[in-house]
Amino acid sequence: MADVVIIGGGPGGYEAALVARQLGGRVTLVERRGLGGSAVLTDVVPSKTLIAAAEVMTKIRDAEELGLHLTGEDRRLGAAVGVDLGRVNARIRGLARAQSADIADRLRADGVRLIAGTGRLDGSQRVIAATKDGEEPLPADVVLVATGARPRELDAARPDGERIFTWAQLYDLDSVPERLVVVGSGVTGAEFASAYAALGVSVTLVSSRHQVLPGHDDDAARVIQQVFENSGMTVLNGARAVAADRHGDEVVVRLADGTAVAGSHCLMAVGAVPNTAGLGLEEAGVRLSASGHIEVDRVSRTSARGVYAAGDCTPVFALASVAAMQGRIAMWHSLGDSVAPLDLRTVASTVFTAPEIATVGCSQADIDSGVVRGLTMMLPLRGNARAKMQALTDGFVKIFCLPTTGIVVGGVVVAPSASELIHPLSLAVRNKLTVDQIAEAFTVYPSLSGSLAEAARRLHGHSSEQVLTY
Ligand SMILES: Cc1cc2nc3c(=O)[nH]c(=O)nc-3n(C[C@H](O)[C@H](O)[C@H](O)COP(=O)(O)OP(=O)(O)OC[C@H]3O[C@@H](n4cnc5c(N)ncnc54)[C@H](O)[C@@H]3O)c2cc1C
Repeated sequence: MADVVIIGGGPGGYEAALVARQLGGRVTLVERRGLGGSAVLTDVVPSKTLIAAAEVMTKIRDAEELGLHLTGEDRRLGAAVGVDLGRVNARIRGLARAQSADIADRLRADGVRLIAGTGRLDGSQRVIAATKDGEEPLPADVVLVATGARPRELDAARPDGERIFTWAQLYDLDSVPERLVVVGSGVTGAEFASAYAALGVSVTLVSSRHQVLPGHDDDAARVIQQVFENSGMTVLNGARAVAADRHGDEVVVRLADGTAVAGSHCLMAVGAVPNTAGLGLEEAGVRLSASGHIEVDRVSRTSARGVYAAGDCTPVFALASVAAMQGRIAMWHSLGDSVAPLDLRTVASTVFTAPEIATVGCSQADIDSGVVRGLTMMLPLRGNARAKMQALTDGFVKIFCLPTTGIVVGGVVVAPSASELIHPLSLAVRNKLTVDQIAEAFTVYPSLSGSLAEAARRLHGHSSEQVLTY
């Protein structure tokens, strides 16, 4: 029976632990804060639970467009619904705690030994767990490092958890901020800006690039930028924040061009740094990149024999789903099960703004740069019958396929439930389905997914690279 020791109980670590038990390993998992990791305690679960409340507020406001109103004197639905952020956040914290406890129960039930403490490597075949009772050496045939990442902090904008926050600290707020300055317009900044604006907060989004969501599908980012601006949010493009200071009840964010933005609160969403310092990694022969990430191959092996790594501590996509897959792959590989190397060309992900942006497979940038020779078909949702009934005006579907064969290699959906609508495209990319196969499958009439079939239909027979937009 192989001894498997896992450091870190996020999705990278706990999913691996379950697989390792299934394959007969003797598994010990060392976690210093709580099972589920940042994904459950501070990142995915809390942010998406907050967004669940924001979505309802968006629906209430949009309902006026459908002709719905209150029967009282002030007939505006939006004006009648308030947000008790203390209760919203208490629910979020409770949900996160409960999910963390569920994961711990499941691991224990499956026979994983859980140690509450901090782990570090002592060479490549031993982990030291430091607990409140002292240090315990854990011999290991296989080690998995899945220690995740933490919010990046700027020296001149130190979060204090009262007025200047990291994303992990926001859930202690018990009333809605009056004016929130969000620094950073990547996924995290954009999601929080979108959610707080929906909850009625006056939001200023400070974006160092020409458009929000740099690195994402350009057409999708343009839609979100437009929606943000139309909702009354102030978006400062090309604005680099260099400092944030507290002045009594105010936070002043200073920009590189010498100007300043004031708010009652500030969220710093300027990226993440991997938790790889002080783990004894380099001493054990584990190579780190200049950014401090653990270098891994496609079966999660590091440069040290028997030591694997998964999740945000590696430079692979920072997604819970990818972390979990890397962790499982590490166990399948190390414990001798059949394994397919990680394939990033099939990953699906979502930016949970309103509307959501969901993507899978290759990107428009891959096609534009010639990395992938492909065709693009983009259909705005405003032509879709169901979208018209629901008064949806923003959003589109986009499919990328190979010329001649019509094999689907990627796609983008911008819509309120894009995270759900992307699944047919995800299935297509994973299974190399063609646009004709998508077009031939029935979709419900009327439905937003009808636009996916329609886009696929319009790609039928096109054989040269081009962008087709209707
Ligand atoms: C605001 C936000 C929202 C997000 N939303 C999504 C989303 O919707 N969907 C999605 O797929 N991804 C999302 N992500 C990304 C996702 O959270 C990460 O990709 C995921 O958490 C990575 O999992 P992990 O196991 O690598 O690390 P983590 O979840 O960070 O877990 C690592 C664990 O290791 C522990 N640890 C660290 N060092 C030690 C040590 N020395 N000893 C013991 N324990 C240690 C930590 O306490 C932590 O519990 C979001 C991220 C953020 C910031």
